[in-house]
Amino acid sequence: MIEKERKGINYFVRNDREAQLVDMVEHFASRFAERAALHDAEGSFPFGNFEELKAVGYHKLPLPKDLGGDELSLYELVLLQERLARSDGSTALAMGWHMGIMLNLRTTREWPEALYTSFCREVVEHDAMINKFDSEPATGSPSRGGKPQTTAEKTTDGWKISGRKTFSTLSPILNHFVVSASIAGEDRVGQFFVRKSDRIRIEETWDTLGMRATGSHDLILEDVFVPDDGLIKIVDLANRHTLNKDTGWLLHIPACYLGIAYAARDIAVQYARKYQPNSLSAPISSLPHIQDQIGRMEVELKTARTLLYSVADRWDRDVRGRQSLKTELGLAKYVATNAAISIVDKAMRIVGGASLFRKMPLERMYRDVRAGLHNPPMEDAILRDLAHTALKEWE
Ligand SMILES: Cc1cc2nc3c(=O)[nH]c(=O)nc-3n(C[C@H](O)[C@H](O)[C@H](O)COP(=O)(O)OP(=O)(O)OC[C@H]3O[C@@H](n4cnc5c(N)ncnc54)[C@H](O)[C@@H]3O)c2cc1C
Repeated sequence: MIEKERKGINYFVRNDREAQLVDMVEHFASRFAERAALHDAEGSFPFGNFEELKAVGYHKLPLPKDLGGDELSLYELVLLQERLARSDGSTALAMGWHMGIMLNLRTTREWPEALYTSFCREVVEHDAMINKFDSEPATGSPSRGGKPQTTAEKTTDGWKISGRKTFSTLSPILNHFVVSASIAGEDRVGQFFVRKSDRIRIEETWDTLGMRATGSHDLILEDVFVPDDGLIKIVDLANRHTLNKDTGWLLHIPACYLGIAYAARDIAVQYARKYQPNSLSAPISSLPHIQDQIGRMEVELKTARTLLYSVADRWDRDVRGRQSLKTELGLAKYVATNAAISIVDKAMRIVGGASLFRKMPLERMYRDVRAGLHNPPMEDAILRDLAHTALKEWE
């Protein structure tokens, strides 16, 4: 499979290490793809997929080598997550949050060192995973800078946190979370490392159009105690954006949606090669309008992938310039998520009415890619950023 991909479209695999990494995911691919339909129909969390990924140490890959990881590069993360999403978008997006956060923590070392090393140990020794829960009903996307309604109140030896987080992806299997909360009575926001306890409840609210198996339920915290060493940092509300300065790790998001689109493209191309209605003397792949649609899918897929991988590679190599890549990172996300929506749409047009049936994964992919529009960074912010950059050139 890898050999075939190397010769064909997947020329983004550059060396043996990357080939081996992709091979690892390839090993699960067909099983995850088979389970995806059931989890989507039930809206159930794919616990088994995560067990399998943990069994091969997938969740440890981004950690530093001296702490038991493999120092996954951003390029490699994109490669793996895209491949995972070709099998199951929900599993990829959910896993991507943990993988991206661990890559981000390794490259920024922005957590207090003792907290970081002890959590890495939990990942390596106890298969711990993590995600950030920032979204809330009143703030909407945290990228807008709204004030969290979740509050953190100082106690003698720590903090008491109460509130509700929405869109809490991975919540069914996590024992550790990063939670943002307003410091009670102040215009400051803190980031806290929270351990699961009986003061945390999950309300199963995640019944959505797409990405139904990500377990992105509501997380309710009721006077949850966090010791002083669980405080990651506090910033003024006006500087809330500085809680996440380096956004390279968010490329796991476009990688996921492009992976889904890539799978839809494969299905459509294979279908077109085989399907021959009795009005034709050859499969529909011989028809000019079908070839035209396939050509257009290729333009979008190859353009978006080229941009995504080139930005990831630049981020890996240009360590000092990472912060200035924000515009390019946003552009890659914008192009990938919109291309994904358009590619799945074209794939369904090629297949025709058969694409509407649930026994084919295309209708699930059509719903799943839609969610990309509502993951960060948001489209209007990306476009504004691009516009400002262009206008600044002439200042
Ligand atoms: C599949 C999936 C998984 C997710 N996983 C997580 C997760 O693990 N952790 C997490 O914290 N979040 C997660 N999210 C939530 C995500 O980050 C957003 O918070 C959520 O999708 C809401 O964003 P929104 O833009 O639709 O909402 P809102 O911010 O409520 O926006 C609604 C509308 O109003 C506009 N709008 C609102 N405020 C402004 C403003 N200030 N300026 C301009 N326009 C504005 C928006 O453009 C949009 O059109 C996930 C989302 C999805 C879809």
